[in-house]
Amino acid sequence: MGQIICAGARATKTQPASSFVGTVYADEVVVGEPPSRMRGTRVTFTPGARTNWHTHPVGQTLYCLHGVGRYQAEGAAVQELRPGDTVIIPPDVKHWHGSAPGQLFAHLALSEVSDTGEGTVWLEAVSDADYGKTPG
Ligand code: MN
Repeated sequence: MGQIICAGARATKTQPASSFVGTVYADEVVVGEPPSRMRGTRVTFTPGARTNWHTHPVGQTLYCLHGVGRYQAEGAAVQELRPGDTVIIPPDVKHWHGSAPGQLFAHLALSEVSDTGEGTVWLEAVSDADYGKTPG
């Protein structure tokens, strides 16, 4: 048993402007069947694009695939991300992630949903001032 989902079988989705700044594409990798709560999505950020601030009730892991990216937890410095980097985000930590200015960036986003099926709590957009800070 098992299943192979062929490349090209699932269409790329554009992420909504209500939760992202700029053009962001999502390619579903896995949506687990219960009892699994696994979610895996390849997310591609065009230059300047990023998530809004948000939290994950069960946390999130990001595995960086391509390009140059940014990650910031509230109250901490912006950090640069490169292919092969892994970001472990604890539950309920407010943060954002996205491309570095002028750079394409892609990561695999891994998370589990909560008991109530919630995976992400979306908050306000990341301002250009916050986005433009130098990584430290
Ligand atoms: Mn996140």
